[in-house]
Amino acid sequence: MSESKQTKYVTAGRDKKWTNGVVNPPVQRASTVVFDTVAEKHHATVNRANKTLFYGRRGTHTHFAFQDAMTEIEGGAGCALYPCGTAAISNAILAFVETGDHILMVDTCYEPTRDFCEKILKKMGVETTYYDPTIGEDIRSLIKPNTKVLFLESPGSITMEVQDVPTLAKIAHENEMIVMLDNTWAAGVNFSPFDHGVDISIQAATKYIVGHSDVMLGTAIATEQHWDQLREQSYLMGQCVSPDDAYLGLRGIRTLDVRLRQHAENSLKVAQWLQTRPEVDHVRHPALETCPGHEFFERDFTGGNGLFSFVLNTSYPRATTALLDGMKHFSMGYSWGGFESLILANEPKSFNSLRTVANPNFEGTLIRLHIGLENVDDLIADLEQGFARYNALIAEKEATA
Ligand SMILES: *Cc1c(COP(=O)(O)O)cnc(C)c1O
Repeated sequence: MSESKQTKYVTAGRDKKWTNGVVNPPVQRASTVVFDTVAEKHHATVNRANKTLFYGRRGTHTHFAFQDAMTEIEGGAGCALYPCGTAAISNAILAFVETGDHILMVDTCYEPTRDFCEKILKKMGVETTYYDPTIGEDIRSLIKPNTKVLFLESPGSITMEVQDVPTLAKIAHENEMIVMLDNTWAAGVNFSPFDHGVDISIQAATKYIVGHSDVMLGTAIATEQHWDQLREQSYLMGQCVSPDDAYLGLRGIRTLDVRLRQHAENSLKVAQWLQTRPEVDHVRHPALETCPGHEFFERDFTGGNGLFSFVLNTSYPRATTALLDGMKHFSMGYSWGGFESLILANEPKSFNSLRTVANPNFEGTLIRLHIGLENVDDLIADLEQGFARYNALIAEKEATA
């Protein structure tokens, strides 16, 4: 019988080879690994890419335990580690493109992913075409003879469009392309990338894997077919992480399931409450019908989390500032996935510099929330007071109009 997901979060990576008989692997710090005999040194050299102590850059037992755990929970043949999610994305793409190639990038990608395409890939002579996250079968019309990679991120950053990954992956494979997914939102576990046609699944482990807003970490997991190339090319780019950070990534996995379930329960309650509010035009929470691509969330995902957005009826930045400035439990911060609640606002015109083909079709301010592990009623009360401050300024504006 195969073990349930919950059990795997507890057992993954806990091989005695790495833990030395205690529950958690020791933090093994190393640059130099020393050998007593020529035979030992030879053995390490031959097996250096295969979880054998060789030199610090190739990893230590702490890294091997975390890498094993990641592939046990997310799938795939091997997991490469990076100092942050952005490094994982750039290096995964770099490992598979060369001058003259073309890639397809989802228009709703994480902003630095787009900047990487514009500022690094372009300089290398690799061309990027951005596609609408809801494009479906029409992706065919964008494929050229030199298209090498199809890059997905689902749900998309900020506007939360859920993609039809299996359909897009199937078409990409018919055209001999490599399918890469930024799987950060699903934390690598609420969407099974390798069951849906993905070749390389990437995560900002900084977010839910670490889960406590105190470590930068990236992961990329490949299928058997792509693992050697991903691992060796990333290695040549000098990608490695400290054993302390690998340790904290592994520790995050132990509570990932309970954290995600609580984030998801809290966020759905807040999203449903927002749907009843007169200030709100619509809520972009993948579990709700008003989120673009909701049907793919229902079909392909096994759970949610704390991150979603909603759109206000109007755009009045002064009122939005009043809402944001007085929050008690929500801080403004450019990340998510920790235990704490966060809030950020995007005026509709701010998307003009972020998007080329999937500009949002709404007029109001978009607010992105990360719902943390606080009591959900406290969070709703905080938002309710925020709306009171917001409404006071809207009323003032209308009175002077
Ligand atoms: C945060 C984030 C990243 C980048 O991760 P860092 O560890 O901050 O570099 C990549 N993709 C998504 C979807 C993210 O939210």
